[in-house]
Amino acid sequence: MIQLKGIQKQYGTGAAQVTALKHIDLTVNKGEIFGIIGHSGAGKSTLIRTINLLERPSAGQVLIDGVDMTALGTGRLQEERRTIGMIFQHFNLLTSDTVAENIAFPLRLAGQSKAQVAARVQELIGLVGLDGHGDKYPSQLSGGQKQRVGIARALATNPKVLLCDEATSALDPQTTQSILSLLLSINKELQITIVLITHEMQVIRSICDRVAVIDGGEIVEAGPVTDVFLKP
Ligand code: ADP
Ligand code: ADP
Repeated sequence: MIQLKGIQKQYGTGAAQVTALKHIDLTVNKGEIFGIIGHSGAGKSTLIRTINLLERPSAGQVLIDGVDMTALGTGRLQEERRTIGMIFQHFNLLTSDTVAENIAFPLRLAGQSKAQVAARVQELIGLVGLDGHGDKYPSQLSGGQKQRVGIARALATNPKVLLCDEATSALDPQTTQSILSLLLSINKELQITIVLITHEMQVIRSICDRVAVIDGGEIVEAGPVTDVFLKP
């Protein structure tokens, strides 16, 4: 489903150059929840942002269902990106738009009609458990509710893959568990492959099938969660 081949990433040039990723080879299978764990600065954020080319790798290839994302022109890349949803630590919602408008955003970009957008937004609001909150603004929601909006927006265009960038790191433990349960049901019921990054072992233990440990821009260990970390 997702293949990263020989991914390298340098930021900056000359004396200011930082190597964020040294040489990453990684395969994520269709239907699994794959976790990437590491300390701050290990390269997690850079790695996950490479999958949808929010960061363009300095070298290497990103293949999604066999399509080499790194070889696509702007138009095709935009199209292929709709098959990859993403959620963020700080939710990245448009604060002056309502819940419904935030979720509608990618559908409008995709050129859907008003009626199509309205129907899909209602469906998504139900899916993430936010019925009755469509007309609220992000400032009126709790952290967990904001992340539910982020999830609904990410799923709007029916992606095959959902990327989660420290999606629960700003949430308390109880809210974290409820968001992880939602992600698990999305994975199981909608057959969406999930890649998440986290610095929290508990997140890996609760929902991931396989895990890679990243340190200093390199994958130092990878395998089934039960092999890499003993379950509690
Ligand atoms: P993590 O997500 O594990 O905290 P990052 O991928 O954010 O790690 O960062 C990996 C390394 O790359 C760090 O040394 C960080 O300072 C550096 N880095 C990340 N983004 C940039 C950037 N835009 N410009 C320069 N250096 C960056
Ligand atoms: P995260 O919480 O996802 O790990 P960070 O706090 O590491 O995010 O980084 C937030 C933003 O700052 C990202 O866009 C990242 O690329 C950028 N960034 C991180 N480290 C550096 C750095 N050393 N120099 C410039 N930009 C950086």
